[in-house]
Amino acid sequence: MQSGFGAGITIPHFVGGKPLVGAGRFGDVYNPATGHSAARVPLASAQEVADVVAIAQAAFPGWAAQTPLRRARVMFKFKELLERHADEIASIISAEHGKAVSDALGEIMRGLEVVEFACGIPQLLKGDFTEEVGKGVDSWSVRQPLGVVAGITPFNFPAMVPLWMIPVALACGNCFVLKPSERDPSASVRLAELLQEAGLPDGVFNVVHGDKEAVDAILENPDIKAVSFVGSTPIAEYIYKTGTGNGKRVQALGGAKNHMVIMPDADMEQAADALMGAAYGSAGERCMAISVAVAVGSAGDKIVERLIPRIEALKIGPGADAATEMGPLVTKAHLDKVHRYVEIGLEEGAKLLVDGRNFRAPQGYEGGFFLGGCLFDHVLPNMRIYQEEIFGPVLGVVRVDSFDEAVKLVDDHEYGNGTAIFTRDGDAARDFAHRIQVGMVGINVPIPVPMAFHSFGGWKRSLFGDHHMHGSEGVRFFTKLKAVTSRWPTGIRKGADFIMPTM
Ligand code: NAD
Repeated sequence: MQSGFGAGITIPHFVGGKPLVGAGRFGDVYNPATGHSAARVPLASAQEVADVVAIAQAAFPGWAAQTPLRRARVMFKFKELLERHADEIASIISAEHGKAVSDALGEIMRGLEVVEFACGIPQLLKGDFTEEVGKGVDSWSVRQPLGVVAGITPFNFPAMVPLWMIPVALACGNCFVLKPSERDPSASVRLAELLQEAGLPDGVFNVVHGDKEAVDAILENPDIKAVSFVGSTPIAEYIYKTGTGNGKRVQALGGAKNHMVIMPDADMEQAADALMGAAYGSAGERCMAISVAVAVGSAGDKIVERLIPRIEALKIGPGADAATEMGPLVTKAHLDKVHRYVEIGLEEGAKLLVDGRNFRAPQGYEGGFFLGGCLFDHVLPNMRIYQEEIFGPVLGVVRVDSFDEAVKLVDDHEYGNGTAIFTRDGDAARDFAHRIQVGMVGINVPIPVPMAFHSFGGWKRSLFGDHHMHGSEGVRFFTKLKAVTSRWPTGIRKGADFIMPTM
C-alpha cells in the first residue's frame, strides 16, 4: 500500500514491514498553502510504542548478523529507489510542509548523500588491528551495532533529517524506530515503504507517529539503546536529560540563531543574494537559516539598500507552483508566533524596513499560512528578536563597528549552530573560521551544511551530546567499540599470574 495525503486520508504508522492503522488519538495535518486540514495522523500511545519497539527488537539479531556488504546492498537499492521517487516525495513534503517543491527536492538530495555514504559501510566499520602487542598476542577493535535505536525528528526537513540518521544506523546493523514530526508525517512512511522495497527485512525500520506521549515512551523504553533527536532547544535539552538519565546514548540537536557577518570589503551583490536564499528560503524554517546579518562599518547601508528591493520582489505562493521562491509557514500557530515576533521587534524599537504582514496570498490560497519577507534594521543584542529563534522569514540587521565586535556578538549568543562571513580578506576569513565558537562555518558560503561524509552539528545550546550527525561521527554514535586481545596456546606460559598483566 502506498501512503497518501489529502482530505479524509488517515496516515498509517509503518511497523513490521507494513502500514498499521492507528487507534486512539489523532492529530490534523494541514496543507499550509490552503490552510485546510489535509489528513489525520495517529498519535501513538505508550503501549503502541512498546509494541513497535518489541517488533524492532525481535528483528535485531537477524539484521545484525547480516554481513556489512549485504546491508550495504540494501542501501544501494534504497538509493536507486529514492532517486526514482524523489519528485513524488518532494510533492508530499511540499503539500504538508509548504516549502517549494524544488526546495523539497534539494532536501531529498542532501538526504540521499547520506544513503550514498552508508553504502560504504564495509569500509567504515573496519576496525584497527595490531599484531604482537605482546609475545604471541594480537589485538583488534571492532564496532558493533547497539540494538534498537530511535530517531525523533522536526517538521522542517521531513526527509533530510530522518535520512541523516536512518542509513547510517541501519547500515551499522541497528534496528530503527522513527518518530517523525506529527505536522508533516507522510514522507517518513514513504521512506519506510522504499526501504522495504529495497529488501530491508520486516521490523528493521519502523515509523510510529505521535506527540509527547510517544516520545516519552521512547525515552523510557529500556530496549532502546540510543536516541537521535533534532528539534527545538527546550525539547532537545529535555530529550538529552531524560534519555541519558535512562541510560541511553543521546545526540540532541537544537535550535539556532545563525549570523552572517558582512565585512565592508565583501561583494555586496553576492552577499545580498546569499542573504536572500539563506534568510527567506523555506520561509526561514531552516536550522541553518541566516536570521541575523551582522554588518560591519560601511557594509550596513550598502547591504540594506540591496536587500529591500530583493525582499519586495520575492515570489511567494504555494509550494507546488514552479515559480514560488518562498512558500507559507507550516501551521497557523507558527504563523501567529512569527507575527507576534514582528510586533515584539516594533515594540523593542527595531526599524521594520520591509513588513511582510502586508502580503496578500493569491486567489484560492487566502486561508494559507503566508507571511511576506520581513526586514528589521538596527536590531540590538538585548532585543528578544535578536536573542530568540523566530524560525520564520524575518531577518534582523545588527550594525557593528569592527570585525572583533562582530566575532564577540556571534560568540556571546547562546546558540552556535552555523555562521558565515562574507569578505575578500583571507586573513579575516581565516581568523573568523579559527576563533568563532560555532559548529559550522561558511566563508562566502551562507548555509555551510557539511556533506554526508563530514558531520553535521552545532555548538553551545544548539547540540546536547557528544556526537554530530552522519559522517564518521554518525558511525561512532550508532556503534559500540569492542577491543579483542588474543593469544593461542603456544604463546601461553604455564602457571597462574596474579599481577596486573603487562606486555
Ligand atoms: P520541536 O522541538 O517542536 O519538535 C521536534 C520533535 O519533538 C517532534 O518530533 C515533536 O513531536 C517532538 N516534541 C515536540 N514537543 C515535545 C515535547 N514537549 N515532549 C517531547 N517531544 C516533543 O521542533 P519543530 O518545531 O518540529 O522543528 C523546528 C526546530 O527544530 C527549530 O528550533 C529548529 O532550529 C530545529 N532544528 C534544528 C536542527 C539542527 O540540526 N540543529 C535541524 C532542523 C531543525
